[in-house]
Amino acid sequence: MAKRPKFVKPEHRDIISAHVLGSKQISPSFVRVTIGGDDLRGFTPMGFDHWFRMFLPDQGVSGFRLPTSAGNLWYAQFKLIPKDVRPVLRNYTVREFRPTGGVFGDGPELDIDFASHGDLGPASAWANSCAPGDPLGLLDEGLIYNPTPGGRWHLLVGDESALPAIVGILRSVDPALQVRSYIEIPHADDRQDVPVSDNIEVQWLVRDDASAKPGELALAAVTAADLPDGPSYTFVAGESDLATGVRRHLVNDRHVPKGDIAFTGYWRHGHAAY
Ligand SMILES: Cc1cc2nc3c(=O)[nH]c(=O)nc-3n(C[C@H](O)[C@H](O)[C@H](O)COP(=O)(O)OP(=O)(O)OC[C@H]3O[C@@H](n4cnc5c(N)ncnc54)[C@H](O)[C@@H]3O)c2cc1C
Repeated sequence: MAKRPKFVKPEHRDIISAHVLGSKQISPSFVRVTIGGDDLRGFTPMGFDHWFRMFLPDQGVSGFRLPTSAGNLWYAQFKLIPKDVRPVLRNYTVREFRPTGGVFGDGPELDIDFASHGDLGPASAWANSCAPGDPLGLLDEGLIYNPTPGGRWHLLVGDESALPAIVGILRSVDPALQVRSYIEIPHADDRQDVPVSDNIEVQWLVRDDASAKPGELALAAVTAADLPDGPSYTFVAGESDLATGVRRHLVNDRHVPKGDIAFTGYWRHGHAAY
């Protein structure tokens, strides 16, 4: 029998050239950037935690050149782009895709919610200062969320960087599925509207201590939680220690099979991506 793939890849992908349509502060810690462009007409939204690589102009360099290959060699090609025109590479999640627009016109629009950490990193700084017309590029990566068959309930855990992914999963799952979710946010007003029902439970965990490391609160909440019994599927993402900590706890203390847990370090405290 063929081995079950770990991820769900898009059926077709190209390097997508896009530009900023607009941006706005939607809550104390989040900036929503909407991008558009004709290339996005070929984009197929997959729901759930649909993510993509994002190429952004590097503030310190004079130009901006995208790789042309979307195949296996795209990263090698990216590294060969001369430094004075090489973009910054980061990863983000589709928050919303409107194929026929609606906010900025009738062309495709894709919203990205950036958990702002000031000007600490180039992507966060870009989101805080980008303007309509600014260029960028995307490379579709599909889904990390790929539940094991037979999971009777789902556990979703993340910090603010994984809020768009967890909201996407909550909007995409069968509403009859039993879901327990824990989302850690810096501020109570960062909560977003999510579908809740008798089956879908969402706990917003607000960090009272601004100096606390993101993810510690969510890890403590999951460790102390009275979770349902039976076969499950877990999606945990965010600061690296949150992802590995939840996995370690589930495997060692709750005897959850490793294959039933998708754990992804979206970022590492004190380290730049790439
Ligand atoms: C599959 C995937 C999907 C993702 N989707 C989203 C998304 O939709 N929205 C989103 O906001 N993030 C998302 N992320 C996380 C995002 O890619 C990282 O936070 C990224 O490192 C930010 O880049 P930067 O240039 O701002 O900071 P970097 O240059 O990578 O880091 C600079 C400094 O900022 C710190 N830092 C990085 N990220 C954070 C953070 N989130 N909070 C606090 N400090 C941070 C680093 O520890 C480092 O000290 C996703 C990551 C992955 C892997």
